[in-house]
Parts: sequence; structure tokens; C-alpha cells
Amino acid sequence: MRKKIVAGNWKMNTTVAEGVELAKGIVAKVNEISKGVTLVVAPPFTHLASVAEVLKDSPVCLSAQNCADQPKGAFTGEVSAEMLKSVGCCYTILGHSERRQYYGETSAKLVKKIALALENGLKVIYCVGEKHEDRSMGNHFDVVSSQISEVLFDLTPEQMKHVVIAYEPVWAIGTGVTATSEQAQEIHAFIRETIAAHFGEKVAEDTTILYGGSCKPSNAKELFACPDIDGGLIGGASLKADDFIAIAQAW
Ligand code: PEP
Repeated sequence: MRKKIVAGNWKMNTTVAEGVELAKGIVAKVNEISKGVTLVVAPPFTHLASVAEVLKDSPVCLSAQNCADQPKGAFTGEVSAEMLKSVGCCYTILGHSERRQYYGETSAKLVKKIALALENGLKVIYCVGEKHEDRSMGNHFDVVSSQISEVLFDLTPEQMKHVVIAYEPVWAIGTGVTATSEQAQEIHAFIRETIAAHFGEKVAEDTTILYGGSCKPSNAKELFACPDIDGGLIGGASLKADDFIAIAQAW
């Protein structure tokens, strides 16, 4: 059975002290959301240990925003999947469009990162989504289809149980422009069909597909009411506990 998830991507925001306060604010209100909704927070690497401490007796899950494409060794500045597991992460986000755009994240690297994350017992929130020019040329289905086939199709159906897909149109991230619920539902349904065509109907039905891109309390309800939208990956609005919780109350 697929899960309903609301995940907060804090990106490179907050000091450790601010992040701890934000996490405390979320934990304090977690009983105001339905039991069937899983909350996930993804602070920066530097905050993980402190935020893990805040979350430890709560149902809120800890996620990283990235992991290395190597298991360990002389890779200065990198953080491995094993390290993330050891600090208490349950998830890592991978393939965020900002990493693809600014840090040269390729499909080949993402294949390695996902394999390492899964080997180390992390679940993966794998981000896909087209740029504005792709959509205006009508190429969005092809772009998303390639991002899925190049990176996920060598996984086993068993491994896919630990992969959440986040559809995040690049033109909607941090812009205040949200995909309409029709646009989002159309491509979420396409993503599920793409998964079904390769892995079978059961895997597709069980795959959680999140929407991301300027999702906020005022539009979450309409988006989450769509049959193929199982929650959200939230950037800006995840930096305020009240907004993040209000989004999770959208069902
Ligand atoms: C994101 O970057 O994952 C995101 C969805 O950002 P925002 O909600 O700020 O558009």
C-alpha cells in the first residue's frame, strides 16, 4: 500500500539552532495530523544529529538532501549513505533539480547513489521534473520518462518498495507558480503508468508519488485530492512549522 507523505526539504536554510527549533515546532504539532500521513524533514547535513535527537521519540522521519556516489574513502567533502544511516536518517532525497542543475548530477551518478542508499537501508525520494522550455515544447513526458527509465529501471521490484518519486516541475520550484492540479495529475498518472509498464501494476499502485513546486497550505488540498498525488515535497513552506503542518492537514 502506498503511503501519504509530506516531506520538507529545508535546502541550505537555518542555522543548527534554528533547525532544532523548527523540528521542535513540527514535533509539537504532529498529533494534529492524520495518523495515515507520514512527515519527513530533510535538514542540511550539519543539522542531522541535532534534529535526530529532537525527532527520536516522534513519528517524524529524518531525511538527508543528498548522499555520495561512493561508499567511503578519499572523497573530501562528501557524506556517505552509511553515515546518513548511522546518524538516524530513514530517507535521502536524490536527484533534486537544483543538484542536477548546479552540481552536475547525472543519471549515471544517481544510479550509484540510489544503489548505495538502498544498500544502507535508506529510502529514497527520487526527484524528476521538466524545465519550463521542455514543457513549452511539449517534451515534459519524454523528459520525465527518461529521468525514470535511466535511473530506476535497473532496480528490482523489491527495491522499488523503498523508492518514493517526487514530481517537481523546475518552473514551479521556489517561483510561487504551482502546476495546476490537472497538470500535476496528468503527469503523476503518466509516471505511474511508466512504472507499471516496467515493474507491473502492483509496484506502480504501491509507489508513492509526491508533488513538489510552490506547494503551500492554500493549494495543497486541491493537489492532494488528485488520485495519483500521494503528498508533497515542500521547500519554502516547510521552513515554518505551522505551514508545514497545515499542508499535512490537507487530506
Ligand atoms: C523543492 O525544492 O523541493 C520545492 C518543492 O521547493 P518550493 O516548495 O519552495 O517550490
